[in-house]
Amino acid sequence: MSAIQKNVEAASEAYSSTFTKGHLVLPPAKKYLVLTCMDARIDPAQAFGIDLGDAHVIRNAGASAVDALRSIVISEQLLGTKEIVLVKHTGCGMLTFTNEDAYGIVEKNLGSEASAELSKLKLDFLPFPELERAVKEDVKFLQESKLVPDSVTISGWIYAVETGKTKRVV
Ligand SMILES: [Zn+2]
Repeated sequence: MSAIQKNVEAASEAYSSTFTKGHLVLPPAKKYLVLTCMDARIDPAQAFGIDLGDAHVIRNAGASAVDALRSIVISEQLLGTKEIVLVKHTGCGMLTFTNEDAYGIVEKNLGSEASAELSKLKLDFLPFPELERAVKEDVKFLQESKLVPDSVTISGWIYAVETGKTKRVV
């Protein structure tokens, strides 16, 4: 077993030994979802005040609304959430490359078949050059999407990995 797997086992042992939240129901109690980046420096529960069972937390590279749309529709239409809190962050990896860079790295590291697969999928890695603008654009995308009803409240935020502070942008 890898060290990572051993850590999961040990954590599970400790966590489950005092666990008392087995009665929670499936739909999030506070009817909202948080979309944030997969960055390892973000602890959404602590940083954004989410108790177990309160909210959906959707994470992907860059907190991309386009990438998260499938989960957002499921969250709202099947599980009753009515508010979206979108949080991107300072120092995001998505600020550091372009699609062209990513395609080049895949070609170099994984070879031409992998590269052809990317091209066939027309995969957009969804990088962004400017943080605040990206938050505004993603919020706008959600506001304009017919898959997100007008009744859904949407806000956009930036989390600073340097200070732990989250500031509203829109
Ligand atoms: Zn990030």
